Amino acid sequence: MEYACKICGDRAERAELHVPEMMFGIGETFTYFQCAACGCLQIAEVPADMARHYPPNYYSFPSGGADEAPWRRRLKSLRTRSALEGSGVLDRLLSPVASFPGDIRLWLELMGATQRSRLLDVGCGGGGLLRQLAGLGFRSLLGADPFIAETLHHPDGVVVRKARLAELSGEFDGIMMHHSFEHMPEPYAVLADARRLLAPGASLLLRVPVCSSQAFREYGVDWVQLDAPRHFFLHSEQSLRVLAQRAGFEVTRVAYDSTAFQFWGSEQYRRGVYLQSPTSYAVDAAASQFSAADIAALEAKAREANARGDGDQACFVLRASASQ
Ligand SMILES: [Zn+2]
Repeated sequence: MEYACKICGDRAERAELHVPEMMFGIGETFTYFQCAACGCLQIAEVPADMARHYPPNYYSFPSGGADEAPWRRRLKSLRTRSALEGSGVLDRLLSPVASFPGDIRLWLELMGATQRSRLLDVGCGGGGLLRQLAGLGFRSLLGADPFIAETLHHPDGVVVRKARLAELSGEFDGIMMHHSFEHMPEPYAVLADARRLLAPGASLLLRVPVCSSQAFREYGVDWVQLDAPRHFFLHSEQSLRVLAQRAGFEVTRVAYDSTAFQFWGSEQYRRGVYLQSPTSYAVDAAASQFSAADIAALEAKAREANARGDGDQACFVLRASASQ
């Protein structure tokens, strides 16, 4: 069948991949193809009825730090400021009493964010990450997610609007998309909107699955992060760069952050165990086929893949190109 790539426009005969839905195990398959020019793996046609693939139990609403004692919030805020823009002395001194999760710290550093930064999290569900950031002393935090039931006003000041990126206005010092971009049917328009909303010199942090990876090569249609039909675009590192450039961005940094999930999840799919099944590691570790030692070995395998730039997900940092 001939398909046109929605990322680079290349049109050619492509082999079809028939990918089963395996998060809930609904027993349907969806057609994907991979562009030979840019490497982007993509769904052949976005289903018209996507809402049924996001049942009410899909979204998690993790609690924030609003119920923490004021003194602990104060210490966390002081530590965060020291780490991001100070000497680092308080960062070290306060580390035993005030947590600053390493992944959040990396994302903030990749965006060059400080506590004064105006941050936007797109596709953030209930806003769990933003509420953690509020607990770290950030004050200008907005979330946007068109699929939540209604706009949320959290007690810590975090607002999550029931809105698409295209509906937002204003200016932000950092925009984040944590595994939401691959769910969006119009990736070019999304990047163009992000560019419109970013302050000069500000960064967009895109965390997405990557198909130019060991896990996709090893597992093919059983690769867990294919997540048919919710993931429309599984970028290669190259196709993400192509898309970014088209939208007036340059990729300034790529940090691979894949985990053991890529291997145990894919191994389960290969054996017909869907993610929410009673014997899935995600549901009941003891009932699963994996021991703690197995998982530790897969974590090590993931770290090695990340070090080679071969993990199945990464953080891409995009900045507006100077020339456009
Ligand atoms: Zn392409």
